[in-house]
Amino acid sequence: MQWTPEPVQNKLYVVPTPIGNRGDITLRALHILRSVSAIACEDTRHTGQLLKAYGIIPRRLLRCDEHTEVQCAETILQLLRNGDSVALVSDAGTPGISDPGSFLIRRVVESGYSLTVLPGAVALIPALVGSTLPTQPFVFWGFLPARGSARQQRLADIAACPWTSVLYEAPHRLLRLLEELCRLSASHRRVCIARELSKLHEEFLRGTLAECYQLLQQRQPLRGEYVLILEGCRREGNPHHI
Ligand code: SAM
Repeated sequence: MQWTPEPVQNKLYVVPTPIGNRGDITLRALHILRSVSAIACEDTRHTGQLLKAYGIIPRRLLRCDEHTEVQCAETILQLLRNGDSVALVSDAGTPGISDPGSFLIRRVVESGYSLTVLPGAVALIPALVGSTLPTQPFVFWGFLPARGSARQQRLADIAACPWTSVLYEAPHRLLRLLEELCRLSASHRRVCIARELSKLHEEFLRGTLAECYQLLQQRQPLRGEYVLILEGCRREGNPHHI
């Protein structure tokens, strides 16, 4: 079936952008980014360069990061009130997934404006699918709290979780996370570490927690972007175990 570009309307479009490979953007996303009155983004320089790579000259770029999200939401509501169309992007992947966007999206919906979320690039789904661990049900935990009792509680929840867990982690904290998980849950629990998805050095490390910890320890300092997928805890009668 032939694709026909839709008329761009007075609404907020949430537009995923690539997590690495610039080929991973949809025709529809490019059409929306080309057509809207304004694009809200985390970093105007970063998004400006991305748009340039696709030959898109934005009419207006607005900074909307974690520090400016509240103020930016008001600016965007004003644009929507004026009948404008606005796109929201983040630095990579889907806005609102471990990235700013959720506050703005809620404000737009609560204020009675239309919202369209385009399907597209996100790190957790290719990591989960490539992990070979059960894909249903799964829990997406994103980044854990950096320290303190909030982190300990979350780690305990993950250790006790009967379903596949998906976590994001920065490279300099990954070994510490693996070590904590080894300590709290069985070190023979299966894990997959998905690294640099869609990029030149994409790889999936699959093994037990202890094996992956040992392997990555030998590779320090770790570089790149990582998603960690952990199998659910082996409780007697857990029907999600294969
Ligand atoms: N909004 C993004 C998404 O839709 O997945 C996530 C943004 S979050 C700030 C960045 C984290 O996502 C990284 O620290 C890493 O855990 C994960 N990530 C992003 N790109 C990745 C990639 N190409 N390969 C592996 N993990 C990636």
